[in-house]
Amino acid sequence: MRDQFGRSIEYLRISVTDRCNFRCIYCMPESGIAWLPKPQILSYEEITEVVRQLAPLGLKRLRVTGGEPTVRPELATLIAMLRGVPGIEDIALSTNGAKLPQMAAALRAAGLDRVNMSSDSLRPERIAAIARRNLGFDPVAAALAAEAAGLDPIKLNVVVIRGVNDDEVEDFAALTVDHAWHVRFIELMPVGDLAGTEFERVVPSDEVLARVAARFGALDANDGPARGNGPARYQRIPGALGSIGVITPLSHTYCDSCNRVRLTADGRLRTCLYGDHEVNLRDALRAGEPMAPLFEQALANKPREHELLKLRVGGLKALSEVGG
Ligand code: SAM
Ligand code: SF4
Repeated sequence: MRDQFGRSIEYLRISVTDRCNFRCIYCMPESGIAWLPKPQILSYEEITEVVRQLAPLGLKRLRVTGGEPTVRPELATLIAMLRGVPGIEDIALSTNGAKLPQMAAALRAAGLDRVNMSSDSLRPERIAAIARRNLGFDPVAAALAAEAAGLDPIKLNVVVIRGVNDDEVEDFAALTVDHAWHVRFIELMPVGDLAGTEFERVVPSDEVLARVAARFGALDANDGPARGNGPARYQRIPGALGSIGVITPLSHTYCDSCNRVRLTADGRLRTCLYGDHEVNLRDALRAGEPMAPLFEQALANKPREHELLKLRVGGLKALSEVGG
């Protein structure tokens, strides 16, 4: 499966819900969110059918995301259904981690391979301030639970926000010394609820890496997890068990190697995180029509790159709409 620019598309991010138990300041508004009505949301059977139809076209890797996927009931049931689709080699989950301690073992037993956990602070009051919810969540405990359940690799995503959590870069980097975890620093994308200061709050990844090197010494380049589908570039503190990655949607775009498409909770296939390049799979699915022609049409229209910097606006109100 290739798009019009010859990029091979084998990775689907599936948003299973638009809802979330957090309201991260960079992702969702605090209130006034119009949730999708339940009948519009794809059932687990419908999601599995989309995957079943796309697998013969070359789809191999899945990421289950949200909103927060763990708030949708019986998530392990979906994982088991997806695991049963021939051709699917890898299933990952993106989660805020709050429910991982209770759920990690069941998700692993259902066939989940690995997990990316968002955690923007290691300090309880700050976690609650960024998430605008206080669930008493300890990201280190959640990552340990995921590790104990056998999920591998474990990646921690940290959105670095100037004046909010950028003083914790070194603390997150230090976690990789004794844990085989991959800490990925993400440049803030200018969507969300930061009162118009989003662009000023972006901390370029080069600055983040310079800070880590200033504390821990020169990093070993190109050294990270073997398995990964995404845009992160990895380095390692010498001798550390884990690695440090940066995801740089703004300072170095990675659209040239984009291998992914996204399925929204209500069944739209989006071929770019930003912009309105999408086709409605749900209506076709519910009408009993095949997915392949729509998928081909979507790939034919997948843009070469996002226009975030050019326009200074995205085509999205929040990444929770499409799962990041
Ligand atoms: N709820 C799950 C989570 O938090 O990991 C999955 C969905 S969340 C939308 C996926 C990823 O998008 C998270 O790592 C989150 O930090 C990231 N994200 C959301 N809004 C962002 C923004 N404005 N800039 C950068 N990353 C963002
Ligand atoms: Fe929820 Fe994830 Fe968005 Fe935070 S980043 S509000 S946890 S969907």
